[in-house]
Amino acid sequence: MQNSKILVETRGNDGVRGVRSDFFSAVLNPEASFGGLWSLESLPKIDLEAIKNLNYNELITYIFNALGIDTSAISLESYKNFDNKNLPLSYTKIDSNIFLQNLFTGPTRAFKDMAMQPFGALLCDLSKKQNKRYLILTATSGDTGPATLEAIKNKPNVFGICMFPKDGTSSVQRLQMTTIDAKNVAILEVKGNFDDTQNALKNLLNDADFRAFLNTKNLHLSASNSVNFGRIAFQIIYHIHSYIFLRDSGAIAEGESFDIVVPSGNFGNALGAFYAKLMGVPISKIIIATNANDVLENLITQGIYDISKRTLIKTNSPAMDILKSSNVERVLFALFDANRTKDLMNDLENKKCYKLSQSELQKIQEIFGAFSFDDESVLDIIAHYANANIIIDPHTANGILAAKKLDSKRKIIVCSTAEWCKFAPTICKALAKNSAFKDMNLNNVDEKTALDLIAKRFNLTLHKNIRNLFDKDEINCIEISKDEIKNRAKEIIVQFCN
Ligand SMILES: *Cc1c(COP(=O)(O)O)cnc(C)c1O
Repeated sequence: MQNSKILVETRGNDGVRGVRSDFFSAVLNPEASFGGLWSLESLPKIDLEAIKNLNYNELITYIFNALGIDTSAISLESYKNFDNKNLPLSYTKIDSNIFLQNLFTGPTRAFKDMAMQPFGALLCDLSKKQNKRYLILTATSGDTGPATLEAIKNKPNVFGICMFPKDGTSSVQRLQMTTIDAKNVAILEVKGNFDDTQNALKNLLNDADFRAFLNTKNLHLSASNSVNFGRIAFQIIYHIHSYIFLRDSGAIAEGESFDIVVPSGNFGNALGAFYAKLMGVPISKIIIATNANDVLENLITQGIYDISKRTLIKTNSPAMDILKSSNVERVLFALFDANRTKDLMNDLENKKCYKLSQSELQKIQEIFGAFSFDDESVLDIIAHYANANIIIDPHTANGILAAKKLDSKRKIIVCSTAEWCKFAPTICKALAKNSAFKDMNLNNVDEKTALDLIAKRFNLTLHKNIRNLFDKDEINCIEISKDEIKNRAKEIIVQFCN
């Protein structure tokens, strides 16, 4: 199996680097010409008959090989820390035609693990093979940080520094980072909000002096955010698996089409579904569920991406509080071309707005639909399912609302992107709206108490990683102001390298 050059750049090539890249090179060097992204040049059609009896790891191998990725270099033990190491997801039927695809059965209890766990293992394998050392810098407001750190902790040749805004995460998310006992990762608690933190990271990445310093340490930078194609590749697999599940369980017939609903922020998860559809999986529509930050809904229903008059709204589905949804660019590239994508992205950068033509919008709408929901609707649907003893997280709630609104004759898979335990205070708020739970004393409880109350009432077992968090010391946390970050990062890196 050879490693083919399957990726091209979404905004065309600047002549400085090669026009095409293989998968592994793009994982290690995610930067592309003109600020674009590496993206699949074309998609192979897969044989639905051939994937019939494959287990999950075999499915990865089959799909990656079909894409032109040499899997002999990848360790496929990536899902060993999941509830079921042979099948890193599960399904729950919640309505006659709606199925939840539970993508949160990994160590941090959110769907980011689905890609990040194998991505971390991959980065480690590649660094070993190339005898190089990699540094991953991230800024997080919640789920990306814990998932990244969990994926690379104690791995040789890979180091991580993660910044989060002080008071900007939930207690669970914070503790998932600050209690990590590993010498190759460091966590910075930045005094400021998420924008400040993200800007601090950007400044660091663009700082010539800092980059020169990394060179002297023989450290290479890589990115673990969802623009890295290494993460996207793993996110195609579970969407294909949903077809295998529906068919094997008899919910659909051979080749019968179904819909997928994806609660979306940066569009990485939805992009995986899009690629699965292009590869021939009989997905009819991909429905994008968003919260009050409804840029994606506007794009898909009206063909306009306009953030010129928007400010970010804080909602109860914080992982979807995003205005610049990076992976949309890969959809534009796949449906139109690099020239058009570059123009649209330039408009977004310069005018904070772009508009699709009528025929372009039509192309989008042949594949995607979209709905957005407010916080109150999210609370109501959580309370509604709690009556049936099904506790869903707020992101998934947006997805279920979309599935109901879609009112499709087809079977619908809703991606469930987090376990309820990551957002216990919001679940409490939802339950408080339902008189059936008025005996629960839900007012003014802290996050730990909220977790215990909900687990007890609904007879749910807290995963040990969550249960243990509140007993651990926050041994890995440096509180820091924005201006101190660069020098402190250098000190940390010196320690890493010793
Ligand atoms: C990251 C995340 C999302 C959004 O996924 P994208 O791939 O960024 O669209 C949704 N829900 C949860 C819980 C997440 O952590």
